[in-house]
Amino acid sequence: MESRTALSSRLDSPRLADSFGRVVNYLRVSVTDRCNLRCMYCRPVQDFKAIEHSDILSYEEYLRIIKLAVPLGLSKIRLTGGEPLARRGFHRFLDEVMKAAPGMDVRLTTNGTLLAGQAKTLAGLGLKAVNISLDSLDPETFHRITGADLFHQARSSIDECLEAGIRVKVNAVALKGLNDHELPAFLELARTHPLDMRFIEFMPIGGDTLWDDTLYWPASDILERAGQLAELSPVVYGDEGHGPARMWQIAGGQGRLGVISGLSGHYCLTCNRLRLTCDGRLRPCLYSDTEYRLRPLLRSEKSSDGKVLEVLRRALARKPMGHKLLAERGRRGVCAKSMTSIGG
Ligand code: SAM
Repeated sequence: MESRTALSSRLDSPRLADSFGRVVNYLRVSVTDRCNLRCMYCRPVQDFKAIEHSDILSYEEYLRIIKLAVPLGLSKIRLTGGEPLARRGFHRFLDEVMKAAPGMDVRLTTNGTLLAGQAKTLAGLGLKAVNISLDSLDPETFHRITGADLFHQARSSIDECLEAGIRVKVNAVALKGLNDHELPAFLELARTHPLDMRFIEFMPIGGDTLWDDTLYWPASDILERAGQLAELSPVVYGDEGHGPARMWQIAGGQGRLGVISGLSGHYCLTCNRLRLTCDGRLRPCLYSDTEYRLRPLLRSEKSSDGKVLEVLRRALARKPMGHKLLAERGRRGVCAKSMTSIGG
């Protein structure tokens, strides 16, 4: 346990670092808990209860937090949700974020289904990279996983973004028995397009979500099978590291294949993230429901930037090692909140 003096000196530090010395420079901002899809691994089994509109941060409130966090050493902001493109006024907000944080690496995570006709505008606002979630290249399987008949909209968002000069990473949750037979098709997508195709291990997020051990398709199996289908060479990273994804170049291909192994090979030691939920809570670890409330402070008459910063630093100082939580609690719903509420 950190001593009181050590903790208070960390709270005074000009940069954001946690009690394990991890520098936190990446803020993931969830702009809504609403989503037009009902992905089986993401939605709660019981009816999803949306957060009251009045409890969701206004864009101005997000901007206030971002402006305060930027000078503390943030270098990357990801706008996510729910489905960020489902929130009204998103383009204006993106524009404001770009202006509030000039030079910042600002990215978007979307299911792509609402993106049609917007890629050029997003690129014009300064968006350089987007993650598009696409769990299947087959319309029927897409429907089965997401509950929506919107495959073509999602698929064409990839081409639209590439044409607009936006870097694309495609993320598919790896689901045994559901999309594992599509590995050759996903490899072909990465071979023929200049994009990163990444499989995310299914994670037991949300006590009430449809976690199912039998659907778990580990990264090691994906790589073994992919290695039989294509010649893969590992991407070597320098001192800057590589975040949670491990990538492979596909021989003769334009794009790359990767895996994000949140369950079989955690990346807690290098975790540089802090999440801001749409109801204004700072969540230092994906796997822990311990959150630090900012909304009451933002809306209080006694609110001050100093107090907001204090909560920000406190949340960071207490950022846990998530893999310990995974080990302690087993795989069954490691936390109570679903991804759509946390902001994946
Ligand atoms: N609506 C946007 C989208 O679909 O990309 C952003 C929000 S979504 C919650 C962000 C990411 O979380 C998606 O790539 C989704 O597949 C992933 N995700 C959600 N639940 C997950 C789970 N239980 N295991 C692994 N990934 C999950």
